Amino acid sequence: MTNFHRLGLTALCSFGAATAYSQKLPNILIIVADDLGYGDVSAYGSQTLLTPNIDRLAREGIRFTNGHASSATSTPSRYALLTGMYPWRKRANILPGDAPLIIDEAQPTLPKMLRAAGYTTAAIGKWHLGMGRGRIDWNGLITPGAREVGFDYSCILSATVDRVPTVYVENGRVLGLEADDPIAVSYSKPFESEPTAVTNPELMTRMRYSHGHNQTVINGIPRIGYMRGGKAALWKDDEMADFLSAKVSTYLDTIPKDRPFFLYYGLHEPHVPRVPAPRFQGASGLGVRGDVVVEADWCVGTVMKKLEERGLLANTLVIFTSDNGPVLDDGYQDEARELAIAAGHDMNGGYRGGKYSLFEAGTRVPFFVYWPGHVKAQTSDALFSQHDLYASLAALVHQEVPQGLDSENHLATLLGRKGKGRKDMVVEASGRLALRSGRYALVPPYRGDSTNITGNELGVVGHYTLYDLDADPSQQQEVTSRNPRLLRKLRERFRALVGNYYNEDQQQEQLK
Ligand code: CA
Repeated sequence: MTNFHRLGLTALCSFGAATAYSQKLPNILIIVADDLGYGDVSAYGSQTLLTPNIDRLAREGIRFTNGHASSATSTPSRYALLTGMYPWRKRANILPGDAPLIIDEAQPTLPKMLRAAGYTTAAIGKWHLGMGRGRIDWNGLITPGAREVGFDYSCILSATVDRVPTVYVENGRVLGLEADDPIAVSYSKPFESEPTAVTNPELMTRMRYSHGHNQTVINGIPRIGYMRGGKAALWKDDEMADFLSAKVSTYLDTIPKDRPFFLYYGLHEPHVPRVPAPRFQGASGLGVRGDVVVEADWCVGTVMKKLEERGLLANTLVIFTSDNGPVLDDGYQDEARELAIAAGHDMNGGYRGGKYSLFEAGTRVPFFVYWPGHVKAQTSDALFSQHDLYASLAALVHQEVPQGLDSENHLATLLGRKGKGRKDMVVEASGRLALRSGRYALVPPYRGDSTNITGNELGVVGHYTLYDLDADPSQQQEVTSRNPRLLRKLRERFRALVGNYYNEDQQQEQLK
């Protein structure tokens, strides 16, 4: 029996000081896709879009059917995953590309906890948690950033693919920047004499916007925000998957052999703008949105192959998930909606809502745990939230969890051994909150602002609404009036959890 096998059997028990065991700890790889839906991976049964590499993790590991992001948008969701805190306590919302770092430098984080256990840590890919303290000088060292959050190495996009600056930031510095062409970024007004998608629509040679996204045009694609300079540092959209994948490979080639690693790999797919590498164009038959999902699947296959080549696979716990639910038209004319409807592709996997939504598809996301020799192939319907990774992994590596975290230790559930996961959780969408409790969803008064595959608005819910997800997973029939006592109990529980963070009067006012 190897040390790793021994660890697997004893991980749930208490053992000695972490330092004494640090060389036996597993490597941890967390892959977070961007806006990938429950129905976008074939592991959940859909055959309209095939994702064989992601499916392998699901088939040989644990296929969670009730895994959740804490939020239906990126910044809050990633904040929760990395800090173990509910993001609404911080009023975290989608950040512009020049926003200051949203995680306090003194705050406990997942990578800091793992670093304390002896891990070397890295973040590669999508970030979207801000950097600096405001008024960023993109031409110098940008700090605080990923390093202060706990990552020894980082190569990241400051925000999203559709927001400026469209450059990679490696260890706090813009990669490839030339001194005589400094970068300036503004989210308030355009730079004088610089063209935008509005003044010069002919610049949109690659893609046009459908809403928003009408400011600086880069690589023929209009973006959110204004940017000037940095020409040599601009990323190439159709090379991003290869670029980030190569950074991951290089990282795995160069990690120290005597320490376990923690890698947070933020895939940029299938967030807009969707620009697949040429070899993936047309690969899905679903247009660019499907093509970049195939590309993301290739990225997963590539990192798994690399782990195997380096002899790391057996010692690595791999977690694959998405930061929030899916969306079709998210600001560009890329035919995602038309082609999904034509092919009958249900990115939500039968759940209601999607990105931005308090309904189930906003936060119920693909979630798979793979650890050969330690995790048995199975399906789990336990409720597990990404913000529980902190406390659960802390238990695995025998680290203390600080007081006051929202993260709960569900290591047994995470490793498929026993346990039912969370009893309940608060889900968040653009600052609005709802409760998931067992088989029930409690949605407070709410104006649904996402759309389903047919493009129908989800409408207004003017009262507290209860859904039974076991009987009605697509949340079509409220069971509110049939369960007055349960409604009262869950409203009390919701109020106890969210306290002053939820203002009912304000919510009612917004519905008028
Ligand atoms: Ca996202």
